[in-house]
Amino acid sequence: MTPPVPALESLRSAFRGRLLTDAADTAAFLTDWRGLWTGQALAVAQPDRAEDVAAVVRWCHEHRVPIVPQGGNTGLSGGSVPDRSGRALLLSLSRLNRVRGLDLANATIEVEAGCTLAQVQEAARAAGRLFPLSLAAEGSCTIGGNLATNAGGVQVLRYGNARELCLGLEVVTAQGERWRGLRGLRKDNTGYDLRDLYIGSEGTLGVITAAVLKLFPLPAGQAVALVAVPDPAVALQLLQRAQDRLAARLTAFELMSHTCLGLVLRHVPTARLPLQAPSPWYVLLEVSDGESESSARAGLEALLEAAMEADLVQDAALSSSLAQFEALWGLREHISESQGAEGKTIKHDLSLPLSRVPDFIAHADAAMATHFPQVRLVVFGHLGDGNLHYNVSPAPGPRTPDQVAAFLALEGPVNQLVHDAVIAHGGSISAEHGLGVLRRDEAARYRDPVEQRLMAAIKVALDPLNLMNPGKLLP
Ligand SMILES: Cc1cc2nc3c(=O)[nH]c(=O)nc-3n(C[C@H](O)[C@H](O)[C@H](O)COP(=O)(O)OP(=O)(O)OC[C@H]3O[C@@H](n4cnc5c(N)ncnc54)[C@H](O)[C@@H]3O)c2cc1C
Repeated sequence: MTPPVPALESLRSAFRGRLLTDAADTAAFLTDWRGLWTGQALAVAQPDRAEDVAAVVRWCHEHRVPIVPQGGNTGLSGGSVPDRSGRALLLSLSRLNRVRGLDLANATIEVEAGCTLAQVQEAARAAGRLFPLSLAAEGSCTIGGNLATNAGGVQVLRYGNARELCLGLEVVTAQGERWRGLRGLRKDNTGYDLRDLYIGSEGTLGVITAAVLKLFPLPAGQAVALVAVPDPAVALQLLQRAQDRLAARLTAFELMSHTCLGLVLRHVPTARLPLQAPSPWYVLLEVSDGESESSARAGLEALLEAAMEADLVQDAALSSSLAQFEALWGLREHISESQGAEGKTIKHDLSLPLSRVPDFIAHADAAMATHFPQVRLVVFGHLGDGNLHYNVSPAPGPRTPDQVAAFLALEGPVNQLVHDAVIAHGGSISAEHGLGVLRRDEAARYRDPVEQRLMAAIKVALDPLNLMNPGKLLP
């Protein structure tokens, strides 16, 4: 039931900050990044202080109004937009964006949830430190959203995902209380870990308003190489060698098929394949070094020489300038947009035990060729983390609206084939994008019943009125 207008007026006076109600002002908040989900909201609230977030949540609790927290609205699973009922309040954290302080001796930074990831990286860099979470949406996504989705990105191999980078949280509970858990502790065994509960909860348990994050030394030098490998099994052998030789200096290890690179070469005018000949698969690996760039390059060269002698690597291109470093990374970073340039896509964000990645790809590719011979597979990902983006595109060339509809109608059966194969290989159907509404029901279907019951019990305990982002993550 929509609350009466006086109640909405009382919200306007309950907190300092913006309250948007005109359709022209709210529209941008109500459609997700990919344009797949559009909802309606009672209003958009934009508090700029944590106490005002609490006031907004208390008002929602009193009036039984569902709340949809939103950061940068770059999530890929539809978690950040409301449903079409128009009953929910959209709570935008984007104006809660102060860096509260740095503790260099403790190697931590305290930031508010609405800081963009790029803002946090920059604040750390200005103090001569590294905040290593890094992903293509970093100019727009917020640290609150990164924590709420337990985001990953390209350096998880070395530094861990958002969960591993967070030491403390400040959270507004579903009842509008403020939990001040902003501890900068690396060891704290004093009971249930509430921080870990809120991280990855996609706004369904409470609102993250601030966090204490870990900082690291800035690398003195980095080098990257694009390497041709015959198949994912050899890529995995190369990863093991790289980890043995380089240990923590190996900061990224990405896998991509030739189809992926072909898309980038077609759609990015400046992109070039820096190898003598195309290869079915490529690895992009990055080395970061505490001493210098030449030392990073020497480490990478030594690895590649040994790998060539062992017949693992057929050809390789190594960066020797910042421009080359960026050009090689660009080949990996432009895959998503190049795939998007060729029409609608069916995306999968999968996680597998590293040892089972090659078998999974072989099995899933063969099953896809048998059942869906009309599609193209666009397979890439963070191999170092066992994280594959196993994406599907229609065959190349112009398409009629009927052909587009026929392709999109494949989504359900394709998902079932891919996700059944992932589960059969001991994997997970969401590695870093969360469940939102996109994967909510499928995840519930695959989940162990005991796990399902425990998750439901946690939700009821922390949000008994089911006001926090209802309909997301859990069915
Ligand atoms: C081009 C592109 C590349 C991407 N690459 C990666 C990648 O490499 N790795 C990766 O992990 N993700 C990636 N993503 C996905 C996305 O950027 C991340 O999920 C990001 O962490 C979302 O942050 P956000 O601030 O935009 O959150 P939103 O999209 O606004 O919200 C995401 C979810 O978090 C909840 N939420 C947001 N803020 C809060 C808060 N303060 N308190 C409680 N709940 C909150 C929302 O309700 C929603 O459920 C990519 C997205 C794009 C568009």
